[in-house]
Amino acid sequence: MNRWVYLFSEGSKEQRDLLGGKGANLAEMTKLGLPVPTGFTVTTEACLHYLNHGNQLIAEMKEQVMTAVEKLSLKTGKRFNDLENPLLVSVRSGSKFSMPGMMDTVLNLGLNDQTVVALASNSQNERFAYDCYRRLLQMFGNVVMGLDNNEFENRITALKKVNGLNFDNELTADHWKQIVSEYKEIYRKQLKREFPQDPIEQLYLAIEAVFGSWNNQRAKTYRRLHDISDDLGTAVNIQEMVFGNFGDSSGTGVVFSRNPSLGDPGLFGEYLINAQGEDVVAGVRTPKPIQVLADELPEQFQQLKEICENLEKHYHDMQDVEFTIEREKLFILQTRSGKRTSKAALKILLDFYNEGIIDENELVNRIEAKDLEAALHPNFDADSLKKRVSFLSGLAASPGAATGAVYFTAEAATEAKARGEQVILVREETSPEDIEGIAVSEAVITSRGGMTSHAAVVARGMGICSVVGCERLDVSETEKRATVAGETIEEGTILSVDGSTGKIYFGEIPMEEVTNTVALDDLHAIWDRHARIKVRANAETPKDIQTGMALGAVGIGLARTEHMFFEKSRLLKFRQLILADSLDERLAVLKELKAVQKQDFKFMYEAAQGKATTIRLLDPPLHEFLPKGADECREVAKDLGKTFNEVKRKTDNLAEVNPMLGFRGLRLGVAYPEIYQMQAEAIIEAACEVTQENDFVIQPEIMIPFTIDAQEFARVRSAIETAIQASLEKQQLVLAYQIGTMIEIPRACFVAEEIAEYADFFSFGTNDLTQMALGLSRDDSPRIITQYLDSGIFADDPFQVLDEAGVGALMKLAIEGGRKTNPQLKIGICGEAAAHPKSIAFLKDLGIDYISCSPFRIPQAKMTLAQAALKM
Ligand code: PEP
Ligand code: MG
Repeated sequence: MNRWVYLFSEGSKEQRDLLGGKGANLAEMTKLGLPVPTGFTVTTEACLHYLNHGNQLIAEMKEQVMTAVEKLSLKTGKRFNDLENPLLVSVRSGSKFSMPGMMDTVLNLGLNDQTVVALASNSQNERFAYDCYRRLLQMFGNVVMGLDNNEFENRITALKKVNGLNFDNELTADHWKQIVSEYKEIYRKQLKREFPQDPIEQLYLAIEAVFGSWNNQRAKTYRRLHDISDDLGTAVNIQEMVFGNFGDSSGTGVVFSRNPSLGDPGLFGEYLINAQGEDVVAGVRTPKPIQVLADELPEQFQQLKEICENLEKHYHDMQDVEFTIEREKLFILQTRSGKRTSKAALKILLDFYNEGIIDENELVNRIEAKDLEAALHPNFDADSLKKRVSFLSGLAASPGAATGAVYFTAEAATEAKARGEQVILVREETSPEDIEGIAVSEAVITSRGGMTSHAAVVARGMGICSVVGCERLDVSETEKRATVAGETIEEGTILSVDGSTGKIYFGEIPMEEVTNTVALDDLHAIWDRHARIKVRANAETPKDIQTGMALGAVGIGLARTEHMFFEKSRLLKFRQLILADSLDERLAVLKELKAVQKQDFKFMYEAAQGKATTIRLLDPPLHEFLPKGADECREVAKDLGKTFNEVKRKTDNLAEVNPMLGFRGLRLGVAYPEIYQMQAEAIIEAACEVTQENDFVIQPEIMIPFTIDAQEFARVRSAIETAIQASLEKQQLVLAYQIGTMIEIPRACFVAEEIAEYADFFSFGTNDLTQMALGLSRDDSPRIITQYLDSGIFADDPFQVLDEAGVGALMKLAIEGGRKTNPQLKIGICGEAAAHPKSIAFLKDLGIDYISCSPFRIPQAKMTLAQAALKM
């Protein structure tokens, strides 16, 4: 016999696959002795069996459910249909991964025309009993029978209107009785049947509805967006009802054990007195902040706080807890790992570490790349923001900043996104049906709902900026417009949204570029303790260098000097250099360029503040610098005082069929040693000056690109050193420097042993090495690679993830060869693939000293390196 049902007392948190997240945690909390209402779980396997066998609850399942109901009765002293003490239960979905609001729930199950009378007399509150009954009729009708919820809500609205009332809580017992009979009428009219009075029939139907809801459209969309498999199924949790709507000493709420937006310690959440669970998330009544509970029900607040603290310690994670207080008794209905912003995720882990809840190893390994990346996302530029006045504000539900065009429905937002627009979704409130629209939006604004409303929870989970509860905003989705204090927001209006302050602005606000959080600084110190391989920045502008340093680089691993010549006036000088007819002309240009370069290098050293700086000598694929077409030749000729024919002839001479494999890198140094000599002098002289002007010492690392041969390298090195020595002697200065090479051509890997006799360091240029090892042009490869990825020949793009078998093998060869000659040889890698987590998994054992990558990839590279080091 298969086991389809587990009592809460029989399971544990490890059984998420079988019992779903909610069931496993209810079992765990039961084991911990927490006040969890008694119950049992029908397994995910039962769900899959049900879905795969014609949507049938087989007899064996029903028998096991009945046995569990019997045990529930024994434990609670309540029985289904009992006229004195009726058993009422909640029926809730719960899959392995939390999918908030995506699947179905039925509360108050077990009520019928008789038991409602018993409930009224037990509670001495007829109004309460009939309110519960109508809720069952409504939820059951909607979730199990597929009736439109508006059908039900409209009846309540009409009744309030007739009686001149505004709020549900003003309705009396008689009003609810009337609603109950109207609801039953809806069943008769729409379904041609009565509402089932038998609690067991109610239960089986509700279980089937929850199983079926695994495949509803919004659940499928949610799974697709969150990469959750369709094959998991959902469990169903059946639990004795506890009532938060039992009067003023009862209530219900949702709390996070820490602030899910910012990560600050302390309970964060909302509750409603005299309400049932769904009222809080539905955003119908505005809930109170949880801190107010400390005044209203201090004992229960304290107990809740302690339980949350203990749950955090037990689970090593921030918890999202649903609770109900029934006549002063606290019950925990659910705990799960709380969704949080990326910023909060980092802060919480660091705080856990500082509070001793997790150790350093767990801290390093639990940080997720996506959180780190999102924490680096830009905010609005502070100065621009100061000058702006917001026209509307609400609750800051999910931080970040975004600008976009307003759309009022998920469909319109999705279509606008598909047209390439940046979109802001504005709704009265969101519901799970809006999930696709939220996913494509830069920001979500709602006029109603609190911090745990659907929009707030979902946007926060997805890391989408969101402001909710903008009460002054009047949204008309049908008229496609919203108004606030006489201002109208039409579809397409551009708004800027600050999810960290809750303020909303008309028009666009520029974004800030670098953000470095406090948490990041602390993390760098921890990563640095573990990762043996260091991380440098690929950067040459002072701004990029500063960003790299702020993001944790230990130095510059690659400053591409040809990037310093793209600016218009410099480009002309550079063109003059390559179009020069004589050595004299070249030397004259070089003299001018040296002054400019020296200043560039001084700025670089100052930005790097004495950290290691590897400057690569010119590696210009010439086609990027040559004038294109007759018109440009004419213009250049005019600017340089040459004839059109002279420029055209020289340009044609220099044109290459395959410039990426042509007159590049060191080849330029062999043909025109004076160019590299000028750069080396500028590097050294700038280093001397910056060292004299500051309290740090610059020891430049001069890097020669595109080396293929030891003699080729030795010759150019010697020319450079001659110039450097002459320059130092002239200034009567001494300066330590190194001259090394990029290893980026397969031949260099084979002859690395000889090259290392002359080179102080190697740095792998895997962009070129990949292009040449695979015979795949860097510039033309995407079409081919896409095809190879689509057909499964390649698992990854080798320009993004290091090709271990080919390029990796060449690197091994070069490292072995180089270190044979020079065991101390410093080795780095500065190609694009270096920082990819998958590449790092391979690089960690290769014997390299550092990785160099673009500034924003540095934190993730450092983290992956520390994680890899700890796993060794
Ligand atoms: C490389 O080839 O990997 C490299 C870093 O140099 P570039 O991209 O400038 O050719
Ligand atoms: Mg290269």
